[in-house]
Order: sequence, then structure tokens, then C-alpha cells
Amino acid sequence: MRYQIALIRGDGIGPEQAEATLLILSRLKEILGLELEIVEAEAGDRCMERSGTPLPDETIQILRSSHACLKGPVGETAADVIVRLRQMFDLYANVRPARSFPNVPSLKPKIDLVIVRENTEDLYKGYEWEFDDAAIGIRLITKRGCERIARYAFDLAKRRRRRVVAVHKANVMRITCGLFARTCREIAKEYPDVAYSEMYVDAAAMDLIRRPEQFDVIVTTNMFGDILSDEAAQVVGGLGLAPAANIGDNYAIFEPVHGCAPDIAGKGIANPISMILSASMMLEWLAAKHKDEKCLKASKLISEAVVKVLEEGKFLTPDLGGNAKTLKLGARIAEMIGQIESS
Ligand code: ATP
Repeated sequence: MRYQIALIRGDGIGPEQAEATLLILSRLKEILGLELEIVEAEAGDRCMERSGTPLPDETIQILRSSHACLKGPVGETAADVIVRLRQMFDLYANVRPARSFPNVPSLKPKIDLVIVRENTEDLYKGYEWEFDDAAIGIRLITKRGCERIARYAFDLAKRRRRRVVAVHKANVMRITCGLFARTCREIAKEYPDVAYSEMYVDAAAMDLIRRPEQFDVIVTTNMFGDILSDEAAQVVGGLGLAPAANIGDNYAIFEPVHGCAPDIAGKGIANPISMILSASMMLEWLAAKHKDEKCLKASKLISEAVVKVLEEGKFLTPDLGGNAKTLKLGARIAEMIGQIESS
């Protein structure tokens, strides 16, 4: 099957990461015959400067007619781009894996967890007002929103180590977090083969540092998930390795967890792995949605090649303690895919 993939290169280090990721995708085409038609779409700060809007209608149309979107980070206009796209396409599950890799400093050696963050509700809904000297924000949590994110987390846990912890603060936010916790408990009953527990968000933040290896799947509300996933990324060696997926029932957008890193943009030293692993997540999602073994193989090849290149430790970007350039690391991963496939 041929897939149309919308590519948003984004701002800052986004275009550099995208270039390296394209090397991987074209290698997969050569080796597996993976047919991805890349359609470029613009969004973000540079797009705003050029066209006066950070998310043009044309981009939305391109996304609507594609099978999935691969997106680089965008700068100041992020809220007008990804937050809007999440709402527009109802991408309710933000899936952020964090695992330890060889040769990358990690707080513990065997961390392998996934944060499943509700992606469309909570304080990020944008319901905020200002009155004289006060400001107010509304935290919207719905039963439906809780149910679907909980089911997503339990289904994922069934394919992993079968443990879900729901993270909330229901002892203080009794109504909103109360609804979330109660609903997770109800959904847990549908999954008797998955171990279920709950933690308050402050305790979870502490345990992510103290014993991160104990977590399998964490399910939580939007803002808590945003914060905990940056923490989890750092626990396993930094944002440069952290991929993410925004998943809905019919569409999905894959992007690095991090922002556009203006401090290192344009130097060609950004770590491309966060975007390369996002592409791997995209292929895994396409594989499941279209029952496509080739996509699944391509996804696994990318993850294996990343691990092997990190193990080899010769081409590491500065955030990983090396001096390799973005494209060089991308090229080595692409080469490694060929080596794995022919071995
Ligand atoms: P945002 O608020 O949009 O998430 P931010 O300005 O808080 O963005 P990031 O852009 O995510 O932060 O960057 C945080 C730090 O991590 C910066 O020092 C940046 O250079 C570093 N960083 C982020 N991504 C990468 C990457 N792919 N490779 C190397 N360093 C990175």
C-alpha cells in the first residue's frame, strides 16, 4: 500500500531533524519497497512570517487528505499549531515512551515506560479569562475523555508488561481528578489481566526519579502528562531521544516531545533521534491501522538501528556527549538499517 505522509518541518532544529529522518525513510524505500509519498506542509513561526498565519488552510487540507503527519517542533506559535491540530483532528491520546538506551546516561539501566496523556481537555482547553486583577482558567474533564484515554492505556498495557498506574490529584481536585480516577477504576474492571494502581501526581513525579524502572504505562490528564513526560525524557537521557504520537480514531500526528531548541538551531548539531523514533511510531501506527506487515517491519528496523548505533557510540550528537552532526547520525542509522536487513 502507498501512504501519503504530510511532513511539517517546523522551526528551529525541526528542518535539520526532518532532513535526517528523510534519509531513513528513503533507505526503507530502497530496502523494503516502503511506499511513502511525502507531501510538504507548512506551519509554525516561519510560516507565520511568510504567510501571516501559523497554520494555513492549505496545510489543514494536506493533513486531511494524508494517512498520517510527521511533524517537527515549532516555536512560539506551538499553541496555534499543535494544540489546534489536536483539537481539530480529535487526537485524544498523546503517547510518550521513555526507555533507557545503550551508552546514554540514564538514572536506572532498565527503564521502559510509556506516558499516555489525555490530549484534548484539562486546563489546556484554553478557557481562560482576565478580570481586573484576577485571572481564571477552567479545567474541563469529561467522562468520555477519561473513558477513551483509560481504554487506550489499558489496551497498550496488554501489549506490554500489563501494568497501568493512573496519575491524578483527586485528594485536592476532588471533582475533576475525582471523575478521572473513578472512570479509570471502572475501566480497569474491564481488564482483569492488567494490574491497576493509582498515584498522586506529586508522588509520581518523585517516583519517576526514585524508581522509574517500576513504571509500565502511566495514564494521566493533559497538563500532568505534559510535565511528567519531559521529566521522564530527562530521566532516560534527554529530550533529543524523546518521540511522541498524537493519536485519534482516524488520524495521527507524530512529533518529537521537545520544542524547536532555538539555542542550537542552524548549527547542524541537534539530535535527530527524537524525530526518527517518531517516524518509527508512525509506521507502527500505520501497520496496525492498515494491517501492513511491511510498515511494522520498517518500524522495528528503525528502533533496532537506533539502538545499535547508540551501542556503537561512534556517531553521537553533542547532547549525547559526542561531536557528530545531525545528518551524520541520521546517515549512520540509515546505513545500519541496511546492515541489519542484510545480516
Ligand atoms: P518548548 O517550551 O516549546 O517545549 P523549550 O524552549 O522549553 O521549548 P526545547 O526547545 O524543548 O525547550 O529545548 C530544551 C533544551 O533541550 C534546550 O537546551 C535544547 O537545546 C535541548 N534540546 C531539545 N531538543 C534537542 C535535540 N533534538 N537535540 C539536542 N538538544 C535538544
